Order: sequence, then C-alpha cells, then structure tokens
Amino acid sequence: MLTINLGLVSEVDDHDPSDVARVAAALQKQATRDFGPIWDVSATVDAFPRLEDVPVGYWPMIVETDINTPGAAGVHEDKDGQPFALIAMSDSWSLTASHEMLEMLADPFGKRVIAGKSPKPEQGRVEFLVEVCDPCEADEYAYTANDILVSDFYTPRFFEPHRAEGCRYSFTGAIKNPREILRGGYISWHEPVSDHWWQQVWFGRSKDFRDLGVCKRKSSLVARTDRRDQATVELDLTTMEGDEHARQERARRLHEEIESLKTGREPPEPPASPREFIERQMREKDEDDPDAEPAPEEQH
Ligand SMILES: [Zn+2]
Repeated sequence: MLTINLGLVSEVDDHDPSDVARVAAALQKQATRDFGPIWDVSATVDAFPRLEDVPVGYWPMIVETDINTPGAAGVHEDKDGQPFALIAMSDSWSLTASHEMLEMLADPFGKRVIAGKSPKPEQGRVEFLVEVCDPCEADEYAYTANDILVSDFYTPRFFEPHRAEGCRYSFTGAIKNPREILRGGYISWHEPVSDHWWQQVWFGRSKDFRDLGVCKRKSSLVARTDRRDQATVELDLTTMEGDEHARQERARRLHEEIESLKTGREPPEPPASPREFIERQMREKDEDDPDAEPAPEEQH
C-alpha cells in the first residue's frame, strides 16, 4: 500500500507550536488506528514550523486566519494538480483539520463517486461524492484521539442499499442507516439524467433537498496545458540545494494561491472538481438562505 505523507503547518500568528504538534499526533493516530484499516489507506502526519519546511511530495495542510472567500477553506489542488488543505483557525480547528485530512485521504482530488439509491424519492440511482465526514460533521458527533477532538466519518458500507443488523455505517456508530445524514450534516450527489448536483442538508429544523445545478469544471485540456507549462521549470532534485529550492518554490507558489483563495481577488476560475463546485455553491446558498442555521463555517 502506498503511504501518503501529510505536513501540518500553522500560519496563524502566535499559534503555539505545541498545539500544532499535539494535533498532528492526534491526526496521525486517527489515520493509523481508525481510518486506515476501514478505508485501506496509509498516511503519516507531521507538524512543520513553516510551509517552506514541508518536504517535496508531502501534501500540505495549512491553518490560516481570515479566510473570507466562499469555498476557500477545504481541499484544493495546486497548479501542479497536487492536493492541499486550507483549514480555518477556530477553537475547534483540530476537528476541521481531521475532517479535511480524512476527506483528502479518501478522495485526494474531490471527484470520487460511489453509486447508490438517491435519498430523493423520485430519483433513481445516483453517484454520491465520497466526502466521508459531511453527514456527521457537527461538533456533537466528534470523538477524541489523545484527548483531541477529531471527526467521525462514514465507512464504505454507508452506500449499501439496505440496513443490516450490526453493520457499522460510521466509525463511532452515530450514523445508524445507509445514506443517513445527522443534524448539522449533509450529503452530495450527481443525478446523471439531468446532470445536476444535488444535496440533502440538515442545517435548520428539518432536512431539505438542494439543487446545485450543473458543475462546469475547468476542462482537463486546460489542466494538462498548465502542467506542461510547469514542467519547463527544471529543478535539480538530486542535490540538497535543489531540494531546498524546490521546497521554497512550492511554498512561494502555494502562498500566492492561498492569498488569492482567501481574498477572492483574482476572478474565480471554474472549479477544478465537483468538491470545489459544491463548496462554492454551498457558501452562496448559506448566504442567501435566511431559514437555515449557519452551517459550520470551517468544515466542508
Ligand atoms: Zn467535507
């Protein structure tokens, strides 16, 4: 099994490095003890003082303040198509970090789907986006690793057609039925006949369906062209100097990208994945839906 290496970095002013290190250890424990055996992934999680210290090939998880743009927090791809996570600082940032970590491990590129029966009665078989923490993301369903709050997540059996006795649908068992969302959570799917993305959300008093429309993605042709442009920058990775240069360069590029994500200064590009599309649509819906209790801002 291939091991994924994650690097946790906080860019929050005066963030205690001990806090970051303790959360990294809790995330490592959750990934190895709880998540890995169920989803068949292997990961390491280490804390680093600066983005420039994160080794090449590691996927960065970056804690930031002042993330103001809809859909900016969450998992993204950098210009080379590598995943990174932006985590909004809060009192429960470990829970957010856990949510983003698990979703990045289950689906690094935000486009993995599993077929199943739609929660919406008149729809048939649909494609669910694999976002393992969304249905059970509310604080009340969190559990702890080393006394640090981490997120519950669903298991692959979540998509089974019928309930079976003794079956584990989420790690803590809070989810009791296949495709069930809990208060404060949601689920997203693609309906192939209309090509629309849909959600079932439970942010207010009762569950609701939302039609998010068609996901117009950045075409893969554009993505490929971007990558070829990047490939002309040649870095000598065989020497220490080359490695340091590569880390500095990646940090510089990521900082540019994070800045434009946080401020929304650059005109929004089409989303790179259904995950990005859904995150953006949700922020917009949250803003103009007066009935809904606000969704937990930092988790998607
Ligand atoms: Zn999520």
